[in-house]
Amino acid sequence: MAVSGFDRETPLPYGWLRWWALALSVVASLGGWYFYEGQVRKKAQAEFHASAIGKTNEIDLRTHAYADVLYALRGLFDASAAVTRDDFHRFAAAISLPDRYPGLTNISYSPLIRLEQKGAFERAVRAESSELIKGLPEFSIEPAGERPEYMVLHYMEPLNRNVPAWGLDLLADSARRAPVERARDLGVVTSVSGITLLRDGKSAISSALLRLAVYRGGGVPDSAAERRRLLSGVVGSTLRIGELIEATLKADVLARMRVRIFAGADASAGNGATPEEQVLYDSLPVERATSTIANYVGYTVNQNLAVGDRVWRISITPLVDPVKAFDYAMVYGVLAVSLALAGLLFWLMSSLATVQRREADLAQRGREAVLLTSLGGDLHSCQTVQEACHVLAIQMPELLARTSGKLYVIDASRRRALAGAHWGEPGTAAEEFAPADCEALRRDEPVLVETASAATLKCGHFAGLPPRMYVCVPLMAQGEAIGLLHIQSGPRAAPVYSEAELNVIRATAQHLALALSNLGLREKLFERATHDNLTGLYNRHYMREWFEQELLRAGRHRRSIGMILVDVDHFKRVNDTFGHDAGDLVLRELAAVIRRIARSSDVACRHGGEEFLLLMPDATPAGTRYKAEKLRQAVAAMALEYDGHPLRITVSAGVAVYPDHGIDVDALLRAADEALYAAKGAGRNCVIMHEAHSPAPAIKIARLTRNHDGAPPAVQHDENCNEPDGKAAPHATS
Ligand code: GH3
Ligand code: MG
Ligand code: MG
Repeated sequence: MAVSGFDRETPLPYGWLRWWALALSVVASLGGWYFYEGQVRKKAQAEFHASAIGKTNEIDLRTHAYADVLYALRGLFDASAAVTRDDFHRFAAAISLPDRYPGLTNISYSPLIRLEQKGAFERAVRAESSELIKGLPEFSIEPAGERPEYMVLHYMEPLNRNVPAWGLDLLADSARRAPVERARDLGVVTSVSGITLLRDGKSAISSALLRLAVYRGGGVPDSAAERRRLLSGVVGSTLRIGELIEATLKADVLARMRVRIFAGADASAGNGATPEEQVLYDSLPVERATSTIANYVGYTVNQNLAVGDRVWRISITPLVDPVKAFDYAMVYGVLAVSLALAGLLFWLMSSLATVQRREADLAQRGREAVLLTSLGGDLHSCQTVQEACHVLAIQMPELLARTSGKLYVIDASRRRALAGAHWGEPGTAAEEFAPADCEALRRDEPVLVETASAATLKCGHFAGLPPRMYVCVPLMAQGEAIGLLHIQSGPRAAPVYSEAELNVIRATAQHLALALSNLGLREKLFERATHDNLTGLYNRHYMREWFEQELLRAGRHRRSIGMILVDVDHFKRVNDTFGHDAGDLVLRELAAVIRRIARSSDVACRHGGEEFLLLMPDATPAGTRYKAEKLRQAVAAMALEYDGHPLRITVSAGVAVYPDHGIDVDALLRAADEALYAAKGAGRNCVIMHEAHSPAPAIKIARLTRNHDGAPPAVQHDENCNEPDGKAAPHATS
């Protein structure tokens, strides 16, 4: 269990799943939209293609119909060798030329005239009496001049507007001659396109000329040579391409599509277009072409159409979007709905993520509360500060994962904060520092340091570079700092602490402060209950408790316990002579000597007044006696001074040993007291050991002397237990 936030990885699947879901659903929406739009465009293209082919077919039918007119006309000339101008006129009227063949501006017959026939031919035409040419200018072959052959436009229907071409020699210019020659050689309808008719003057109206050869004897001779030999003339028609297209496709169709016709290759060359195509017709004049047309160029349909022996390439491009508005609405509607669904999914998952995060936060807060309660309970059950430090070191890594830190306890002098516990790797955090070196302890409030540079300004309790970020929280009790909780964020922890984390830190600090404060109080009470105020040694109550336990243990393990009862000789005199302060000084110094002489396993206590007791587990009788004598000598050698006056102090000591001189506390105390009494009686400043099994206290005076070889001292029985300087009793010198 760890406090979240120090560990920022979110364990909630919806947190990141929703982003995946959003990305996938948006990609799917866009992909679907792209595919659907493609399908719609394909459908539109197919529809436009079918429509364009239909239009091309209509034009094809027209041009075939025009060619058929020529075949009918040839039939007329094949049927009769003497077709008159009026016959020709009647033929044209019969097929109601302008109504049924829009764009076909005229049909004509041009006989082949040789140079020698030219004059006679011109005269014959001029001599014609037909009403049809009444009032027209005088006929002559144009252009004038002598050429071996002439193919003269002779009969023309209607004639009126085509009068400028009447008499024109079709062989005189190469553009008009070429289809005539091909018509002569092939025997089928030939064509030339891109011709500007004489009646159209200098305008840009482009026309096509259709030609079909007429042979003497009718029909089409088999060989090319025969055809040349038997050629009698050509029938022809001219058609204005624009009029043909506009009559075929109608205005509303041309408003929706741009139709262009290019002069293509020879029909025999198939569909291949010539590199430089001549524009024969464009339904959309250049000045009306707008940039929007470019958007639909992709839909352009090209189709080749045979006109005579030549090919037109018909190119049809939509002028309005072939995709229907409804289809667009569907495409974008589907996109909008799918994106909305993606958004809805994201919103739902975000809501779920929020709910999960809140639940997790709640669970986390719950876990923190449990951990904090457990920490509080454990801390309050501690008996010592060391135990509390131990508990903290174990529980902090659980409570605040990926952190390191130290707990400092401020000592009684309030001059030092000492590290009592640490967890993790607190790096450069010092083991000991002066409270003034910490900003938090200076201000008595938590300090959060978020950059190492700020750390050097605020705190000086690092033995090297300060950590990147840390928190210092003073542990306050009764308005006074008694310690410091120092927490560093680990290398993978989040760069900032959240409010929740800071709350955990504050709560931990409060628990710690309370626990340390209670432990301090308890230690003080314990100290007071078990120790003597003046000397700091244990008091008699503690000694009794301890001694009873120790006697039981010694009994179980068959071990001895030595006991020395020490009493200051003539202590009353010190008080009387120098006052109680001097007496107190003597008692404190004597306690210091006892403490120095005692082992750590020994227990020294003030038994009452100027009497002290030293209890020594495992000490033998000889060892105890030796220790007592050592103590006596150390006291006698003490150079005390009070108010400029030297104080000479001696002590008497009674020694008793468990189990030799008693097996319970009272018996042993009695035995030691009797021995002490004997020592007093023996002149003081001496050590006497209780003698066992004596009916009355059989007292022997033992004075220990040191052996020169350092071996345990031998016991000397000496009846003359004297004052150190040979006087009857020790006293304070003045
Ligand atoms: P003796 O050699 O026989 O032991 O003589 P003594 O004067 O040492 O013994 P006595 O029992 O007559 O006097 C003990 C004195 O110790 C009496 C009391 O005023 C003094 N005393 C007891 N407790 C304290 C204390 O805490 N401080 C001071 N200054 N004196 C104390
Ligand atoms: Mg006494
Ligand atoms: Mg005394």
